[in-house]
Amino acid sequence: MSRMDAIVLRGNKDVVLESVPDPAPQVDEVLVEVAATGLCGTDLHEYAAGPTFSQPPVVLGHEVSGRIVDVGSGGDRSRIGEAVVVVPMDFCGHCHYCARALYHLCAAPGWVGFTRNGGLAPYTAVPSRLAIPVPDAVDLEAAALTEPTAVAFHAVRRADLRVGETVLVLGAGPLGLAVIQCARAAGAARIYVTEGSPVRAGLARDFGATAVLDPHDPGTTARIIDETRGTGVDVVFHAAGSPDAFAQGLDCLRKQGRFMEMSSWAGAAPLDVNRNLIKEPQLRLVFGYDMFDDFPAVLALMAEGTVALEPQITARVPLDKGIEEGLVALLDSREDRIKILVKP
Ligand SMILES: [Zn+2]
Ligand SMILES: [Zn+2]
Repeated sequence: MSRMDAIVLRGNKDVVLESVPDPAPQVDEVLVEVAATGLCGTDLHEYAAGPTFSQPPVVLGHEVSGRIVDVGSGGDRSRIGEAVVVVPMDFCGHCHYCARALYHLCAAPGWVGFTRNGGLAPYTAVPSRLAIPVPDAVDLEAAALTEPTAVAFHAVRRADLRVGETVLVLGAGPLGLAVIQCARAAGAARIYVTEGSPVRAGLARDFGATAVLDPHDPGTTARIIDETRGTGVDVVFHAAGSPDAFAQGLDCLRKQGRFMEMSSWAGAAPLDVNRNLIKEPQLRLVFGYDMFDDFPAVLALMAEGTVALEPQITARVPLDKGIEEGLVALLDSREDRIKILVKP
């Protein structure tokens, strides 16, 4: 059996490039030759603060695009050569939620790149059903952004955003930037963004933000209220994982507006109930995506150019530099680095 190099999580702050056996696709699996794998905050969290839910030792990498080069025994050989993106959330297929096609809420989920080997390697074997075809019009680098974009897309759909509505996006990291484009595609009239980093703020403007405001400026909340005829925005998307942003977002929301919480937090949320009760806000917590609806829909938007996230790719690094110039670099400075792609 031949071997390959892979970036393996072994434990807390313990990530190494090491030689592992080439993956062999099992029944109902496909072997994907990896084109690009994006790094995200969850990778950083599992490496620096975790492992929380991953099961080391495991090959990291869950934002994966590539090409099918083999299938497990009895598999559909006509898929060989197909360009695909990997849905990293696996599901049991028979629990209460799977029976209702709510696979992302599966009672016994699995995670490519955390509980089974992922895409920070030249090859990865994944369940065939998790390899979603990529249209010809989408290149494989852009396709590696499908997964994080699907999180934003899912939040925008769950917000029931209607044409002409006004939106506030708290935080312009990879998720917030994708929300801006999806909200624009859904027909939002004005999109306010709060973001402190100049690099991220610049991208937010490029992606269609109406105005990007400094979250630490004491006049920011008043300005948003003022520009929405004194009522506040229709929908808030919180993608910053910050207690201050959470409170500011609620202050900027109109009565009966929708507050979409889509970030993971380091601690518990402080909710001032009395301050917010009279507004009847609808607080909606959203997680992941409906993989078999949202992935193809996001890829279709990418194919049409409605959603174009390549500008948020700030670096492309080879696998052997994926730790130093990928994970560690992202941990050192998340301000001016947005999305780093590893190209095995
Ligand atoms: Zn991710
Ligand atoms: Zn299930």
